[in-house]
Amino acid sequence: MSTLLAHGADVVVTMDSQRREILRGGLFARDGVIEQVGADVDLPRSADRVLNLDGQILLPGLVNCHHHLDQTLTRNLPAGQNAELFDWLKAHYTIWARRTPEASRTATLIGLAELALSGCTTAFDHAYVFRNGCRVDDQIAAAAEIGMRFIVSRGSMSRGQSLGGLPPDSCVENEDDILRDCERVIARYHDPAPGAMTQIVLAPCSPFSVTERLLRDSATLARAKNVRLHTHLCETADEEAYTMANHGVRPMAFMQDLDWMGDDVWFAHAVKVNEAEIHTLAHTKTGVCHCPSSNMRLASGIAPLRKYLDAGVRVGLGVDGSASNDGSNMLAEARQAMLLARLKLDAEPEANRIWTTAREVLEVATRGGAAVLGRTDIGALEVGKRADFFTLDLNTIGYAGGLADPVAATIFCAPQPARHCFVEGRQIVEDGKIVTIDMTKIVKEHNGHAAALLV
Ligand SMILES: [Zn+2]
Repeated sequence: MSTLLAHGADVVVTMDSQRREILRGGLFARDGVIEQVGADVDLPRSADRVLNLDGQILLPGLVNCHHHLDQTLTRNLPAGQNAELFDWLKAHYTIWARRTPEASRTATLIGLAELALSGCTTAFDHAYVFRNGCRVDDQIAAAAEIGMRFIVSRGSMSRGQSLGGLPPDSCVENEDDILRDCERVIARYHDPAPGAMTQIVLAPCSPFSVTERLLRDSATLARAKNVRLHTHLCETADEEAYTMANHGVRPMAFMQDLDWMGDDVWFAHAVKVNEAEIHTLAHTKTGVCHCPSSNMRLASGIAPLRKYLDAGVRVGLGVDGSASNDGSNMLAEARQAMLLARLKLDAEPEANRIWTTAREVLEVATRGGAAVLGRTDIGALEVGKRADFFTLDLNTIGYAGGLADPVAATIFCAPQPARHCFVEGRQIVEDGKIVTIDMTKIVKEHNGHAAALLV
């Protein structure tokens, strides 16, 4: 049994059912589970570990719903700097396929460390290139090393160029092998229990890199095993043209025909959608992961975040990286989401302008992400939820002069690094540094792996 008291915060953002913001407060947790959240006067006086948060704001850990951690090996690749999605993918596919299991380990550690330093405590990774001996197992082991709550896909690509897909044949896998490995990793790693640190998702990569058979079989397997489904969808005009040319329907109709809608499914991006499709997402309870930086970087377009929120679509936030972002900063991504949602307001008549607020994007990045991932045990600081949280120093240069509303300052002002970050009651970041692993060594190793891939 171990207890943790984090108290004295200037503000506690609970994201609980009443969205309470508590002045001069904190939380008390036992064995990684929150037992109390409230003002200091109501909290216990002692615990095994006591953390004084004077001068800090305490927030629920951010939840990242879409990432490709292995891409931290190919950030800022010159050949992909100025390209739309399809050309960008073609510049990267064969490099990703050459990565080694050791490189996958450092890539996972780098990406998760970067996320934790921005307040993220739960990350979903959409891994889908499994060649050269790489397996999901490599990433799961790395996530355990750093101590992050980790949800990972046994993703896949099976439709190479010879079958009309976008990736080279050398980067895809045999479908029977994929499905066998999906069963293996679900049996070995998927934990359905509250507080799970590791979960598996089935995630064929995209309509232009897998076959209909694999999409259908993945959905059948996921439902038989009670795991979630994920893919990229409605990301670009090229993808829409692809499904129209190959299947005669728009991407969402294509997925609907394959039984790929429902509360156990979420799509990354959902940029190119019409009004009817927004309604379909809402009434089927299908989730969406909004990835604004990647959409801007690849000139994909602007996802209708405001419309999703107003229609009641479940929306989470993703950094989607790391080669199309090219960072893993969740707080920066939340800020980007707010700014991008405002970009088109100038085209709206005054009466129709609905401002997307700082608190709304913080909610998308916490409660929203938890709902998209089907987790009821994270995303808010509430009794019974896991002790996943982070803090920011408020008395910094970046927030100076903006403290009339410290909660909104975390989004409006330039993103500041987390002071502390805890997952399941365990400290991952202390005073702005990763403390579970020697990151100096990992950065060096990682740069070596990245350089080797370009030779
Ligand atoms: Zn992606």
